[in-house]
Amino acid sequence: MTAQILDGKALAAKVRGEIKSQVEVWLKEGRVEPRLDVIIVGDDPASQVYVAQKEKMAKEVGFEGHLHRLPGDATEEVIAARIAALNDNVRVNGILLQLPLPKHLSSDALIARIDPNKDVDGLSEINLGKLFAGNGTLIPCTPKGCMRLIQETGVSLAGKRALVVGRSRLVGKPIGALLLDANATVTMAHSKTTHLQDEVNQSDILVAAVGIPNMIKGEWIKPGAVVIDVGINRMPDGKLVGDVETHEAEKNAAFITPVPGGVGPMTIAMLLENTLVSYRVLHKV
Ligand code: NAD
Repeated sequence: MTAQILDGKALAAKVRGEIKSQVEVWLKEGRVEPRLDVIIVGDDPASQVYVAQKEKMAKEVGFEGHLHRLPGDATEEVIAARIAALNDNVRVNGILLQLPLPKHLSSDALIARIDPNKDVDGLSEINLGKLFAGNGTLIPCTPKGCMRLIQETGVSLAGKRALVVGRSRLVGKPIGALLLDANATVTMAHSKTTHLQDEVNQSDILVAAVGIPNMIKGEWIKPGAVVIDVGINRMPDGKLVGDVETHEAEKNAAFITPVPGGVGPMTIAMLLENTLVSYRVLHKV
């Protein structure tokens, strides 16, 4: 078997096209543009690249986009004040605090200050709570993108064994909840899990979100599995690789996401989609 590649780049472009059409309809109706404000603190190089991509894509679909650059030594009070001003600004419907934050800041405390209706990253306790209650509206972007990629395969999740490797608040836990809601039988693996190989080998759906290059070996993959590789790891030669040994995994999997070009572009597309979701709520359309 040679796996079919799940082209996240192409799917993300399709989603952006749909968003752009919706924005055009609203503008024709005389409504204002959706507006996404991104706050970045400090000068982490990877985060700079991510926010530049988000800003570019937001403008491409017709949103108004604003980037707020705060210095790396900004205090929690300064960032909280910026969030409060954006919460109060009726023109703003999406607020994203780019993570990770510098070490002296509490991302949990600051995320909690974002108006839940404008929390387009879906990471606040209120939005995660709604998701775990089976009632999510603003769903974290990377897990939402993973689910969209799985949908593209046409594989039904009901009764399938799904394994999530990694249990972060950002990716692992929310994707576990979404897979469970889709009626998969979900196992969560993490750094203390023993016999990971056996777990992988029994799984019809594998979502890897660890951050260790090529840690999941191709020969572990169950024949016919759907493999979603969230990991983004930069190798010493500058190349990006995932958590799954893609070339070997392709021999067993039925579907697999590439790195780069799989989950990454979908994460940004889902951020734009969440910005539409928040617009609909706040503008009652
Ligand atoms: P994290 O560091 O917060 O969490 C990593 C998880 O991996 C932890 O839950 C830990 O228990 C688990 N883990 C560590 N070692 C393990 C091992 N040996 N076996 C099994 N599990 C182990 O990371 P994160 O924020 O969830 O991100 C994970 C990866 O996904 C990173 O490479 C990150 O860059 C990438 N990522 C990609 C996107 C995207 O858009 N494609 C978005 C977010 C994160």
